[in-house]
Amino acid sequence: MDSFEKPLAAVDPEVAKLIREETARQADGLELIASENFVSEAVLEAAGSPLTNKYAEGLPGKRYYGGCEVVDKVEQLAIDRAKALFGAEHANVQPHAGSQANMATYFALLRPGDRIMSLSLAQGGHLTHGSPVNFSGKLFEIHHYGLDPKTETIDFAATRKLAREVRPRAILCGASAYPRTLDFVRLREIAEEVGALMICDIAHIAGMVAVGLHPSPVPLSDAVTTTTHKTLRGPRSGLILCKQQHAKAVDSNVFPGIQGGPLEHIIAAKAVAFGEALRPEFKAYQQRILENAQALAQGLIEGGLRLVAGGTDTHLMLCDLRPKKLTGKLAETALGKAGITTNKNMIPGDPEKPFVTSGLRLGTPALTTRGMRPSDMRTVAKLIVRVLDAPEDAAVHQRVRGEVRELCQKFPLYAKRLAQSA
Ligand SMILES: *Cc1c(COP(=O)(O)O)cnc(C)c1O
Repeated sequence: MDSFEKPLAAVDPEVAKLIREETARQADGLELIASENFVSEAVLEAAGSPLTNKYAEGLPGKRYYGGCEVVDKVEQLAIDRAKALFGAEHANVQPHAGSQANMATYFALLRPGDRIMSLSLAQGGHLTHGSPVNFSGKLFEIHHYGLDPKTETIDFAATRKLAREVRPRAILCGASAYPRTLDFVRLREIAEEVGALMICDIAHIAGMVAVGLHPSPVPLSDAVTTTTHKTLRGPRSGLILCKQQHAKAVDSNVFPGIQGGPLEHIIAAKAVAFGEALRPEFKAYQQRILENAQALAQGLIEGGLRLVAGGTDTHLMLCDLRPKKLTGKLAETALGKAGITTNKNMIPGDPEKPFVTSGLRLGTPALTTRGMRPSDMRTVAKLIVRVLDAPEDAAVHQRVRGEVRELCQKFPLYAKRLAQSA
């Protein structure tokens, strides 16, 4: 154990070097993946703490292991802050990620074989909303509602008609690639009309929901699930909020239902992130994410791209690349060479396969965290358009790569870490 107290770089230079490489990659490029963000040093410190050592199966005050008196306080703090942040009756902060939050919630409120209505993956939904390759599609009877092909927003008349036919046990609302405001009130009305439970997944929009810049489904829903690492800017993890009447079912379906011991170091990091989100600066941050999304969207439209649903109300947008005769796969690769990280994405009615696609999903949370503003987004849009107009031109990729680097240097990220490990 003589290496026990030594720093990583001394004990395992191979892994230390890779961590440094990845930190530098994050600092040195434009991160536009809508589901990603950069956490604060405070969140990183909590996530990297000795709390990782503690087994704490159970809940604060009701554990199956001794020595939980400190982590009990940590977890209770995370629960109290989550409830305050979202105005929820009950919170479970143990899900390891968004998918586990959904799994535990479905198991708490539904039985295998029950009918669920949700948005399909191809129309903006998430894998865990009933994709046939996911547990959700295997264990439940899934019926997808969809978008109006003209407006590319949820077709509520068709959704209501489907609900009356299907009589689902639950209606899921939420998406991974839906740029417009989700109308939870209308979905709630449909759920009520057919006697269905309402489960909302706010994984992407949680940050905006927390500060009131997107309508909250919390008062309307039986349960709300989320990730904590997207717009909420916490550690990679999950969270369930629910009505008091479902509290016991939710808690027992997280543990022992689908998980063992909770990750108390990540729960501490969640507590820190929720604390950050409760401060007034966080609302200003979310406001800037939205302003930046508007500026980026405008710049892309001016550059000749079509945006699905005509634009965005949120942090993300879906570009239709067909006006540029490009696929998502090609665009993602070309932008990657220029230091711009994005992901290909299906667009409504996409003629291409999921691994190719005709779309690109872009979001502003990460660049906003770095301090970029609308004028920078206009620059970013121009850089993107230059690459998409010359997707095979290595010289263009290189020139844009240089300009991306210059822009990134004006907005340092994890600079202290990088300096220390240099
Ligand atoms: C990201 C996401 C999830 C799942 O998140 P993981 O943490 O990757 O499991 C669930 N639902 C929606 C809508 C998402 O966007």
